[in-house]
Amino acid sequence: MTTTETTPRLIAISSGKGGVGKSTVTANIAVAMAQAGLRVGVVDADIYGPSIPGMLGIASAPPAMTPEGRVIPARAHGVRVISMGMLTDDDRPAILRGPMVSKYLQMFVRQVDWGPLDVLLLDLPPGTGDIQLTLAQAFPLSGAVVVSTPQDVSLKIARRGLRMMEQVNVPILGVVENMSGFTCPSCGTVTHIFHQGGGERVAAELGVPFLGRIPLDPSVVDCGDAGRPVVLTAPDSPAATACRDIATKI
Ligand code: ADP
Repeated sequence: MTTTETTPRLIAISSGKGGVGKSTVTANIAVAMAQAGLRVGVVDADIYGPSIPGMLGIASAPPAMTPEGRVIPARAHGVRVISMGMLTDDDRPAILRGPMVSKYLQMFVRQVDWGPLDVLLLDLPPGTGDIQLTLAQAFPLSGAVVVSTPQDVSLKIARRGLRMMEQVNVPILGVVENMSGFTCPSCGTVTHIFHQGGGERVAAELGVPFLGRIPLDPSVVDCGDAGRPVVLTAPDSPAATACRDIATKI
């Protein structure tokens, strides 16, 4: 990836369906980029279901402010982060109408004291609604990454997300296939629980890059729950290797 001194690349990480591992991929890519020496920020744009703080081990606490009244992002594993999860209690839902969500997002990108960054990753909520449109239209996105499992139902909705990004002129950086094959730790047999190769097929069909596949691996769950992404905790695992490889392509 390229870097500039002044303007960070704004990259949206999106998915059609929820639960396909978009936030997990965002957290791992962010840490992998930081490990590679890039200055990385993450905006958790999943206002209603923020999971980035948990995955990066950031406690929900009101963020510090600069003397000028700008929010100072949290820092974890070399990554700067802002999330609704830092502004609300763990159990209290963000009850906000669309225009307020847009305001928060604008604030997260523009009013936060990010300092110099090479890349700002935007972890979008799933789907093609208000938040995705606000971000795509309000900010000069460098591109979008679409995360999907290889399962048909997930890919079908991912296609919609890809088309929405195209319609609002956001370049598609590529498709990530997550939860792609589980290797039995006892016998080494690979089981394709969510089928196989669908992400690559959709990328080819739509003429966008295929960025790679990340295996289904229980340690990804454990590391996410512990707030230390798998690229840190099990750097030699196939999942971590795949995440690092994907990070170099976007
Ligand atoms: P999304 O952001 O798309 O809603 P999450 O990143 O929250 O999805 O992931 C959903 C669940 O799947 C979490 O429990 C996460 O730990 C798990 N998960 C994500 N990717 C993988 C993977 N490659 N292997 C195993 N579990 C995964």
